[in-house]
Amino acid sequence: MTEANPETVVPALTCQDELLIRIADVPACPACDSPGLLLVRFRNSWKNQSGDDVHGMREILLCPLCSRGNNTAAELVSYLEADEKTALEEIEELEEIGGMIAAWVESLRQQHVDEGLLAAEYDQWLRGTL
Ligand SMILES: [Zn+2]
Repeated sequence: MTEANPETVVPALTCQDELLIRIADVPACPACDSPGLLLVRFRNSWKNQSGDDVHGMREILLCPLCSRGNNTAAELVSYLEADEKTALEEIEELEEIGGMIAAWVESLRQQHVDEGLLAAEYDQWLRGTL
């Protein structure tokens, strides 16, 4: 399990930012406790209440159950599960799925103002699971 380099940087196809994809020692999903498939870290920016841009990193876990609500994530989950590459270490065609991951992250970026998602995350945070 312990790879020398567990994190792989895949250039995103849709923007100038880089995605950091963690493929080893992925934690369990905070919502349903399923083993996470992979973890993506990316730069994210939003406006604070004064209207200034705030830049930060956001970390998203690909959960085989919870992430299925998102079309691009569901595609990714099916791809990974079809080949039983749950650990992902053996995936040499990482560039191939890099595009899928980039599309997924891009859709998450669009979603960051989603009030429902915010409320769900806030709820998780209140319960101490986020
Ligand atoms: Zn889950």
